[in-house]
Amino acid sequence: MTSTVDSFAELGLSESLLKTLSEIGYETPSPIQAQCIPILLDGHDILGMAQTGTGKTAAFALPLMETIDIKVSKPQALILTPTRELAIQVAEALQSYAKNLPGFHVLPIYGGQSYTIQLKQLARGAHVIVGTPGRVMDHLERKTLNLDHLKTLVLDEADEMLRMGFIDDVEWILEHTPEQHQTALFSATMPEQIRRVAQKYLVEPREIKIKAATATVAAIRQVYWQVSGMHKLDALTRILEVEDDFDAAIIFVRTKTATVELADKLNARGYAAAALNGDLNQQMRERVIDQLKSGALDIVIATDVAARGIDVPRVSHVVNYDIPYDTEAYVHRIGRTGRAGRTGNAILFVAPREIRMLRTIERATRQPIAPLTLPSRADVTNKRVADFKAKVAEVLDAEGLDFFANIVSQLCEEKDVSAEEVAAALAMMAQEGKPLQIAGEDPAPRPFREDRGDDRRPASFGDRERKPRFEDRGERPRFEDRGERSERPRFEDRPPRSERPARPAPAGDMVRYRIDVGREHGVEVRDIVGAIANEAGIESRFIGRIGLYEESSTVELPAGMPAEAANALKRTRVRGVPINLRPDEGRPGGGFSGERKFKKKPFADR
Ligand code: AMP
Repeated sequence: MTSTVDSFAELGLSESLLKTLSEIGYETPSPIQAQCIPILLDGHDILGMAQTGTGKTAAFALPLMETIDIKVSKPQALILTPTRELAIQVAEALQSYAKNLPGFHVLPIYGGQSYTIQLKQLARGAHVIVGTPGRVMDHLERKTLNLDHLKTLVLDEADEMLRMGFIDDVEWILEHTPEQHQTALFSATMPEQIRRVAQKYLVEPREIKIKAATATVAAIRQVYWQVSGMHKLDALTRILEVEDDFDAAIIFVRTKTATVELADKLNARGYAAAALNGDLNQQMRERVIDQLKSGALDIVIATDVAARGIDVPRVSHVVNYDIPYDTEAYVHRIGRTGRAGRTGNAILFVAPREIRMLRTIERATRQPIAPLTLPSRADVTNKRVADFKAKVAEVLDAEGLDFFANIVSQLCEEKDVSAEEVAAALAMMAQEGKPLQIAGEDPAPRPFREDRGDDRRPASFGDRERKPRFEDRGERPRFEDRGERSERPRFEDRPPRSERPARPAPAGDMVRYRIDVGREHGVEVRDIVGAIANEAGIESRFIGRIGLYEESSTVELPAGMPAEAANALKRTRVRGVPINLRPDEGRPGGGFSGERKFKKKPFADR
């Protein structure tokens, strides 16, 4: 790892937080944490270039929590996130870090959620607010959110907020916060507009960037599996089972808790596995490594630090069960295999949101990492059958079968069955508890799409897969339930709406709405899609044709919109203008007063 800091204690965090981190299984700070935490604790502003998976949430959350005065039941920190999913996830992370901070209260506020509930929660008081820009702005305007006690403001995934058309809202919020506060801005990329915001609103910020040092990796077969449709644990055992040259593996996870959990689960599935983490003393650590060397153990589940320097030639596989924080950690991890001239295999599990990290690793190592197709049930069965046959064949070659052949003949005679049937019964007996066929279904294949995905579950607890999305369950498109994880619309990689095939006018399950923003407000189609997707929780692909006119626009949305979402959309702003969404009685280009005189064709119909 790039981090030269081995413990959180070196960073200046309080005893209470250190205790919590140890309890939740964080062993060492990630590089971004090692860099950011001391700077933020010193009160400086930060401009951080970091992506998901680097541990940036804790990097800003931990110092921010040190500043909270529990006795003051007022928002002392505001974290802006581009989506409701991220708002919820960040709030969850803060709540987990507040384990030993009784009375700490963090509140996520986002579009699409009932105002009544939010107002009640705000009135009750919260120390930290995590919210999407539109809804935060709304509460500030209504004076239902008061930032007079604000000490810290965090802009998380600023480039995403820009991409989704929220940058004006973000600037509005920055303009309406008290002067005296610390600001941290995190962004995976640093486009010009974000730099401009940073220059305008950050005070002498320290710039933090995780260096993506180029590194060479030994000749190791590198593959990745995009986590979807199946629990990581099931995927892991499937993969390991069909790997031809499997001998022993080191599996990397992020927390020491996860090392123990995964070791227990693998033991329960019949693997000889053990955890290797920082809680083990030197003697215990050496014992685990010796057992791996001798073959008493086949799998060791380790954290980065605990696995430093392991040199066990029989390690045929390294599995990055949780993605590493940076390239250096990746290179270090996979260097545990392919030793002493043997071939090595490195398997990387990548959640949809971690794709950027995968690409960073590929760039830095200058090597492509090939996608891995998960073995199907049939593949696993075939492998098990092949192994079984090989074992039987070995016995067939052995001496001393006559005695048993005689027993088989007797059985055939006594039971009036064929030798084949007796053999089948014996095979069944031999495989009792070790079925050759696996139960369950193969997950439906899902195309790899870089422009989607919002799997923000803690990577260390990857077994808790997200529930299948509704399209996987074959249901009709619908409005997202509150709190359900959804995909985040990202527009940069997609063809513009106007280039996508035109859809017929709304029929049956689509309804056309009118909104009060148009070209004269400087609005683009993506701004409308971003705002609606976020505020009403409608996946962007279910947003139909958008007609962009001078003063207003039309948008088609699935029928059956719940009142809550409709209300949210009435108040939603695009470029600072309330859109006032309502059913459109007019016809595009003609039915509305503003457009009638122009009779223009929609600018960006699709
Ligand atoms: P983030 O990049 O903030 O989304 O964090 C990614 C994942 O890493 C989350 O599941 C965190 O719980 C986990 N994580 C962050 N920091 C650490 C750490 N120092 N040790 C172990 N896990 C961590």
